[in-house]
Amino acid sequence: MQINTLILGAGAAGLMCAANAGPSTLVIDHAKAPGEKIRISGGGRCNFTNMHTDPGRFLGANPHFHKSALSRYTQWDFLDLVNRHKIAWHEKTLGQLFCDDKATQIVEMLRTELTRAGAQLWLQTALADLTHDGTRFTAHLEREGKRHTITARNIVLATGGKSIPKMGATGLAYDIARQFGHAVTDTRPALVPLTFSDQRFAPISGVATPVVAQANGTAFEEALLFTHRGLSGPAVLQISSYWSEGDTISVNLLPAHDLAGTLRTARQTHGKRNVTTALAEVLPERLVDHLSTDLPLGGNVGDLSDKRIDEITDRLRDWTLTPTGSEGYRTAEVTLGGISTDRIDSKTMMSRDAPGLYMIGEAVDVTGWLGGYNFQWAWSSGVAAGQAIVQTT
Ligand SMILES: Cc1cc2nc3c(=O)[nH]c(=O)nc-3n(C[C@H](O)[C@H](O)[C@H](O)COP(=O)(O)OP(=O)(O)OC[C@H]3O[C@@H](n4cnc5c(N)ncnc54)[C@H](O)[C@@H]3O)c2cc1C
Repeated sequence: MQINTLILGAGAAGLMCAANAGPSTLVIDHAKAPGEKIRISGGGRCNFTNMHTDPGRFLGANPHFHKSALSRYTQWDFLDLVNRHKIAWHEKTLGQLFCDDKATQIVEMLRTELTRAGAQLWLQTALADLTHDGTRFTAHLEREGKRHTITARNIVLATGGKSIPKMGATGLAYDIARQFGHAVTDTRPALVPLTFSDQRFAPISGVATPVVAQANGTAFEEALLFTHRGLSGPAVLQISSYWSEGDTISVNLLPAHDLAGTLRTARQTHGKRNVTTALAEVLPERLVDHLSTDLPLGGNVGDLSDKRIDEITDRLRDWTLTPTGSEGYRTAEVTLGGISTDRIDSKTMMSRDAPGLYMIGEAVDVTGWLGGYNFQWAWSSGVAAGQAIVQTT
């Protein structure tokens, strides 16, 4: 079978690319259903984009690479598509847009667009091998026990990163990129809970509190959640992308509270109150109990000197912790790193060295913050490649 474009991976980026790459496009996936990560994302409601999408909210070795695609297919373009498909949505917080109903509406929308564009989707299909003769790619596919030989002018790598292997994540895009001479940067799990080998937070697992969490100079003000194995919640997931093994993190437990002022006032008005009781007015009680095993928080508020008040406040504003690890790819929302952007054209997403080879989505070394940014990168890079393919056809 001769086609114009073979897309490997029917996830967010591959489906979006297929909807834009013109007819004579085949998208394959080894899974039973397309867009499985879309389906489970955002607690089943898919945080499909973010109103505040901005290149500064993405990580990668080249901080400029993703600017072009993000500016040519924006969050407003995707929202327009969602509106045209009459999918109801709402802003949850911090510009994060979610479906009112079900994430599968986004998958259905992309399937409809793909069919409208004249593309085909083959599921439960595996790639056996891929070669290039200088003009065309030849791919051997295995589907329902049969072998198919496909020749295509273009190949799009859209098989994503390594996160959640149970859902079918593989390193296929990295392997093919390497086969065609592209470098792959070091990869690690990101947007992932951090762990402590001594499970010190197990007794307060389930407690959540607003914080400013910081790692290597980057800070996020959001909720922190204590878990059996360590720390989670949006603040921690965000800083996990800036944290590497051995690094410390700093947690400000009093992001919006003048604890020193409260304690000084309480010293006059409620001098007999326990320090821990006073702290429990601004922090969850179970957290205060836990902190008191580490910090000297005994005695009454009336006995606190100014110096002691400042010491307590400083410690709670800069609680320094050294996680021993992360939950890894098993639960990570994304993979940090990927195919190096050095030899990829940022306008078309095409290889500078192997004409006709395109790389999009999470497989590439572009990683967004938590909050809809990763899907926006999948949509923007998918459209960039799709439109470039149509223009060269
Ligand atoms: C639990 C969870 C929740 C998330 N929630 C959000 C969210 O709300 N908002 C947000 O912006 N981002 C979210 N993300 C991140 C987002 O899902 C990804 O960044 C995005 O799906 C990447 O799109 P992609 O197309 O590059 O890869 P994927 O969507 O992962 O698609 C890759 C596709 O390739 C297929 N594939 C892989 N290997 C092979 C192979 N060897 N042969 C054939 N097919 C293969 C896979 O089956 C898959 O269908 C979440 C991630 C997870 C894990």
